[in-house]
Formats: sequence, structure tokens, C-alpha cells
Amino acid sequence: MHWADVIAKDIAESCEKPLIATGISPTGIIHVGSLREAITGESVRSAVEGLGKEVRLIYLIDSFDPLRKRYDFLPAEFEKYVGMPISRIPCPCGKHRNYAHHFVQPFLDAVDSLGVQCEIIWTHELYGEGKFAEAVDLAMKKRDQVIKIMTEVTGKAENPEYAPYNPICSACGRFAKPVFDTYEFPYMEYSCTCGNHGKADVRKAEGKLTWRLEWPAKWKIFDTSAEPFGKDHAAAGGSYDTGKRIVDEIYGGKAPYPIPYEFVQLKGVGQMHKSLGCPVTGLDAINMTPPEVLNYLFLRVNPSKAIDYDSGLGTLDIADEYDRMERLHFAGEWTEAEDNSVRAYVIAQHNHVPPRLPKQIPYRHLVNVAQMASGFEGVLEVLERTEDLSDMADGDRKRLARRVDCVRYWLNGFAPDSVKFSVCSTVPPGIELSMNEKVFLKALSVKMYDCNWDADSIGSTIADTAKESPLGLKGGYGAMYRIFIGKKAGPRLGTFLASMDKNFVVNRIVQASG
Ligand SMILES: [Zn+2]
Ligand SMILES: [Zn+2]
Repeated sequence: MHWADVIAKDIAESCEKPLIATGISPTGIIHVGSLREAITGESVRSAVEGLGKEVRLIYLIDSFDPLRKRYDFLPAEFEKYVGMPISRIPCPCGKHRNYAHHFVQPFLDAVDSLGVQCEIIWTHELYGEGKFAEAVDLAMKKRDQVIKIMTEVTGKAENPEYAPYNPICSACGRFAKPVFDTYEFPYMEYSCTCGNHGKADVRKAEGKLTWRLEWPAKWKIFDTSAEPFGKDHAAAGGSYDTGKRIVDEIYGGKAPYPIPYEFVQLKGVGQMHKSLGCPVTGLDAINMTPPEVLNYLFLRVNPSKAIDYDSGLGTLDIADEYDRMERLHFAGEWTEAEDNSVRAYVIAQHNHVPPRLPKQIPYRHLVNVAQMASGFEGVLEVLERTEDLSDMADGDRKRLARRVDCVRYWLNGFAPDSVKFSVCSTVPPGIELSMNEKVFLKALSVKMYDCNWDADSIGSTIADTAKESPLGLKGGYGAMYRIFIGKKAGPRLGTFLASMDKNFVVNRIVQASG
């Protein structure tokens, strides 16, 4: 059974109206790992829905977290915002409502394109609505018990000064230290390092629970049934362990079914975001990987397994694998070893499996075609030379358009040079051809006139001619690549040339042979 089905079954059996929670901390650049969380949450949601249950997925944005330091990617003037909640810090570009929106909005828009059906919830709004007031009150009244739990679970020395809640200073806007013994609902006194002494109302956005108290408070508020989270939180003595006891003993609720997931490691990274200290962001991953493939990438392995996210040639391999699972699914036949991956393909559709096999264009071919034409219509025109596109449904067209966008994004920032080329408009200047090469091209030009204009015929015509020449296959192919793209190697010649106009191709060979 696929892992998402196992979890979904457990949740469906134990919860009347299941709610799955996922979250994100938008304090800076959003990592690819955040995608794993969103996609894991949506996959479990759709699998529970597939069992006939009414189920919700919420996406909690930690927008009330403080800015911990001025990150390298922030301008110097952001130094003064350190320690303030990110919902109250201006956005660095001036186009968003605040700092939190700036970092998370593009990501949310993109997550939407993955078919993640979630309700977005901003933590700073929950505070403003007084949703945490009861939890704050309980945590303050049972502070001794909270400290005992922290000590027992984490194994660290007892800290009598432990503050479950930090009021925000009304003078400087930063989180301040509470005065414990004068607490009386709903007011909490504080004294701030800036010299201010004041009172916060815990029913308003005038302070915040610390993470270890806030997380279980969210479980109680939403009655969360299940939640994926990074494995760091799942470590022994970590925030899931303390949260489990806090929610039970302090708040009177229960902990969700835990879905800890391993980290996503980056491989084969491009040059784009070195200055941000993060070579591939979550947004990059969404922009360069077709949404259905990205869903599949995170579904094909158990959350407990690390994923190497390969932004190089791995991007093409995973798209090919996805397409193969799609064909197997529609053929209705696969091996036991493929069972898990075919099921991952189905779950990746979030209960919207296409009615028939979508029109597939080999992904690597698309990478070549995207470099031979501009615009989507141009791509279709080139594709039509080698593919029958007459039976493309609307959905197929949309998917293809999205794939072309992904391929272009990938080519612009992440693709290795070996797959990049551009078709030169004339024989590239500076190309020197030997006598043998010219003779080969001359012979080839004559045969190409009579050649049927399809990939197989073109491929075998070139191969036969090259074999008859002293150049051999390798030398013959090399000469062809040089006169078309100015490189020693390139895309498979048959399909590549068949994707171009016959006269253009033959004229180029004639020109070069002269
Ligand atoms: Zn902005
Ligand atoms: Zn202050």
C-alpha cells in the first residue's frame, strides 16, 4: 500500500471530520523542503477525500514570528526590524503588504498551481482575533507545569524564567519579557530592554506564544487530525514531544497524527541565487518542474526518506519517469516493483485523474524544441513536423504550455550547457571543414533531397552516408552539429532535423559542402 493511502486510512478511521494542517515560516527565502510539506499535506488530504470523507487542509503562515537577524539578502536598514514580528515589517521591494507577504505570496500563488486545495491562515490574524487568548491564559496560569514538562521532555536544566508568552513592547515594537507575578487575564505586564514598561492584552495581537507553546495551541484551536512537519521537530525531546504533553496537560486537547518528513537536499544546482545563500528556492522548483511531476517527485518516496532534488539533468529524468508511470497506468499493466510509483502517479492527480492518456511529448524533445522556436505557437509549429497533434484536448494543450514554460525556466537558469543550443541562421562563421567532411556533406545533401521527411528516415540516411565516408558515424554527426548549432554534439539528429523545414536543412548542407 502506498504511504499516503496508509496514513489516509488511519485518519479516516479515527477522525469524524479530519483536518490536516501544514505550515510555513516566511522569514526569508522559501526552501524546496517547504514544497514537500505542502505536497505531502495535499496528498494526504486528497487520499482521505478519496475514501469518501469530508476533509480540510489548512496552510498556516507563521507571519507573527520575529525577524531573528538581518539576513544577507536584506538591505542594511532592515537591521532596525530585528526582533519585530514579520507581519509588521515593511516588504523589502515595496510591492507587498508586509515582509511576510513579500516572501510567501509568490510561493502561495505557485502552490495554488500545484492543485493544493488549502485554506490560507495567517498567524498574526489569529492573534488579532483573540484565538490564542485561552491558550495564553492557560499557559500562564499553569506556567510551573509548563516548565516541568519542558524540563522532563527536553532533559535540559529547569529554567524558572521560562516565558511561554512574550508581549510586544508598545514603544519599540519588539518582543519583550513578561512580568510573571502580576499576570491577570487578559493583561500581562512587561519590561522591555528599550526602557519601556507596559501592559499587553493577550486577546489582541500584542504578544505571542513561544514556538513550543504556539504549535500545540494551534492543534487545540483547529482540532488538527494530522500534520506533516520537518524531522527536526520530530527528534526526541523536540517540539512535537513537548507539544504532545502541552496540548494534553495544559490545553486539554490532543496531538495530531504526526507525519515527519526528511529534508530535501539540493543537487546539480545552477547559478541563479548564490547571493541569497540558497541556490534553488522552492519557487524555482515550482517554476522549472511541471506541477504534476513535482507532486509525483514527493509522492514516489516515503516521507521518511531524504530526497535529492536534482535541478540539473535529474529534472528531465523525473519527468520521463512520470510520463512512463502515466502510460503504465493507462495501459493497466505494470510490475510489482512499479506498483508504488504507479499509485504515486494516481495520487499526484489529487482525485482528478485524466479520463484518457494525455498527449505525451517526450520531455527531452520538448527541451530541444523550446530552443528552436519562440512562443508557444512556435513550439506547436515545430512539434507538428514530427508529432500528430490533431487529437490534443484542451487539457493536453494547457499541460503542454505549462511544460514549455517550465523547460524555458530551467534552460535559463539551471540546465547544464550540454543540453543548450541554438540553431544558427547560417553556417556558423569560423567553422572549418576538412575535405572529407565536405565530401560527406555533398553526398548527404543529394540523399537528403530524396529522403522522406521523418525522424527515422533522416536518421538512417545520415548514418548510412557517414558509414560510407572515412569520417565514420562520429565524424559525420560531428560535422552536422557544427554546421547547424556550432557545437560538437547536440540533440538526436533524426528528430532534430525532422523538426525543421526540409529546404532549410538541405540548403544548409549544400552551403557547407561548397
Ligand atoms: Zn515585496
Ligand atoms: Zn521596547
